[in-house]
Amino acid sequence: MFLILTTILTISFSASAQSKMKYSREVPASVRQTIDADLNLLYSLELSGQTPLHSEIFGQARGTTYKRFFEKYVQEIGFHDCGGGSSVACAFPGSDPRKIFLTPHYLSSPKSSSVTRLSSLFHETRHLDSNFANWPHELCPTPFLDEQGKDIIGIVSGLKMEGLEACDWSVYGSYAHHITAIMFYNMARFCSNCNREFRAKAEELGLDQMRRVINSSGIKAQEAIRADFESSPVR
Ligand SMILES: [Zn+2]
Repeated sequence: MFLILTTILTISFSASAQSKMKYSREVPASVRQTIDADLNLLYSLELSGQTPLHSEIFGQARGTTYKRFFEKYVQEIGFHDCGGGSSVACAFPGSDPRKIFLTPHYLSSPKSSSVTRLSSLFHETRHLDSNFANWPHELCPTPFLDEQGKDIIGIVSGLKMEGLEACDWSVYGSYAHHITAIMFYNMARFCSNCNREFRAKAEELGLDQMRRVINSSGIKAQEAIRADFESSPVR
């Protein structure tokens, strides 16, 4: 009897960590399958620790934490051109407060990977948060250069970021807060069941997003993220 009960509990726990995302009719089957696979991968992750900012924003670092967080904001995924341009996703919180939209670029970007696709999904959750006017972005500085003085290029779009509305003023904005810097840097450092490629891509994405955290007075809030990581030993 004990063995049977254990088996049932194990199965029900695994099923609860599966994605049950609702899609609008216009979302292509290939996009649904890719997202379901990406979300199921994310929800299965195990991490051996987390940084203080991660604890503050998400709680304990593990796949089921990310599932709870994502589903708190997003009930449905739709398909839209988001006004044209090179966007991969967008949100219209005024008319659809629990829905995010993907564009035809979502899967076609040459840099598309589970990491970039998941980061786009979690990025949009910020725009469904009615606090702080749905976290609008700030223009990136011109010029916008990395530590070596080279133009900073968007990891997904491949575009120069200078002058684009793709930066944030706070570590709690879209790019820095959720996926980008804090969530993916934690995965890069602490994930215990990710393969080497996933961790490398997570670190690359964390850096891309951290660079976008600026503020209008020119003091880079990314120093707060760096300090967050330096305060947590590698395990
Ligand atoms: Zn955004």
